[in-house]
Amino acid sequence: MRILVSGAGVAGLSASIDLARAGHTVEIVERAGHLRTNGSPIDVRGDAVGVIEQMGCLDEVIEHSITMTEGAKFVAEDGSVIAPQPMAETNDSDDDVEIPREDLMRLLREALPDSAQLRFEDSVRSLSDDGDQVTVVFESGQEGRYDLIVGADGAHSNVRRLVFGPEQDFVKHLGLYVAIGNAPAQAVSGNAPHSVHILNLPGRMACLGRYRDQALAIFTFRSERIEYDHHDLSAQKRILADFYGEDPQWKIPQLLAAAHADPELYFDAIAQIRMPIWHDGRVVLIGDAAHCATPMAGRGTSLALTGAWILTEELTRHDGDHAGAFTEYERRQRPYSDKAQASASGGADLMVPATEEEIEQRNTRLLSAQ
Ligand SMILES: Cc1cc2nc3c(=O)[nH]c(=O)nc-3n(C[C@H](O)[C@H](O)[C@H](O)COP(=O)(O)OP(=O)(O)OC[C@H]3O[C@@H](n4cnc5c(N)ncnc54)[C@H](O)[C@@H]3O)c2cc1C
Repeated sequence: MRILVSGAGVAGLSASIDLARAGHTVEIVERAGHLRTNGSPIDVRGDAVGVIEQMGCLDEVIEHSITMTEGAKFVAEDGSVIAPQPMAETNDSDDDVEIPREDLMRLLREALPDSAQLRFEDSVRSLSDDGDQVTVVFESGQEGRYDLIVGADGAHSNVRRLVFGPEQDFVKHLGLYVAIGNAPAQAVSGNAPHSVHILNLPGRMACLGRYRDQALAIFTFRSERIEYDHHDLSAQKRILADFYGEDPQWKIPQLLAAAHADPELYFDAIAQIRMPIWHDGRVVLIGDAAHCATPMAGRGTSLALTGAWILTEELTRHDGDHAGAFTEYERRQRPYSDKAQASASGGADLMVPATEEEIEQRNTRLLSAQ
């Protein structure tokens, strides 16, 4: 089949690898001008480890893996350690492999068969499914006809909007925002390599993570929904400054400067995508486009890998019956995404207590558990 994949994140790249290897003709269209490799190290967990193995990438993933979050600690304003982050409360499996996002993206890019065409700086403008094929018009003006469309374009999916309706119909805001900036190690002073230090202020947290020669500036804060254009990075940096610009504590000014200097800052609402069905005609959604669980779940990458794998397996098994394949893909993938989404809400009270009293109570609880 001739398949268009919208989005070259983990979901889009892994689906393209799997589908191209299964003999399909794959075209990928990515809105950005390059692969978006920024972000914090991410976890490959549970059955996704088996998927990575079947894709033939496990040795390389393990070779590039790091151990970071095990050492996460809450600190006071002077930087002194209060208590370790209790991993059992935020990590629901011990079979995970932690790998920098840029390494996983690079490994997937390298595994992409030459037959798969990857095109940057373009996006689907419209699509019409006549039952036999889908005609797509791209923003570039190009047109194409495809047997299937795979929407892998993230939580703010364009394909989802075009086929299933506006984002607001499917989004559940969890009351938090996250910003993750990557910077050279020297951009933020102090702290040992491979450490994660977290300072809480009421309703806000600032975090310095270190791995290899990098510093990670991570901010998570409580807020009702904020209206902004999620393609407008300057607007996102202004929101971050509004929430942290007056905070001189600990390393917040350095972390904020590092985040502002990052041209690829990742900023988003911590919001889930919940849909009753992930397919319509010849169009199917995978990854965050279908079931974003949020970074609080720590499972977005694993879900993307399993979804892409299951979709390909079912298309092969159903040999031309895409409707049957899509139904079976949903039946097998939903337990993974339901579990991940259910696990996401618990972390907020631990990671971002809302008040000074709640920060104190959390610290007392963690200290007494030591
Ligand atoms: C830059 C970045 C940094 C991230 N950092 C973290 C992190 O630190 N921690 C964490 O837990 N999760 C992070 N995530 C989310 C995480 O990658 C996903 O939850 C998970 O990997 C599932 O990925 P996905 O491919 O479904 O979605 P995404 O990773 O969001 O990938 C979607 C892709 O689609 C592209 N796209 C968007 N709109 C269009 C369009 N109209 N046409 C074509 N392509 C489009 C995007 O540019 C992106 O490449 C990050 C995502 C991005 C994009």
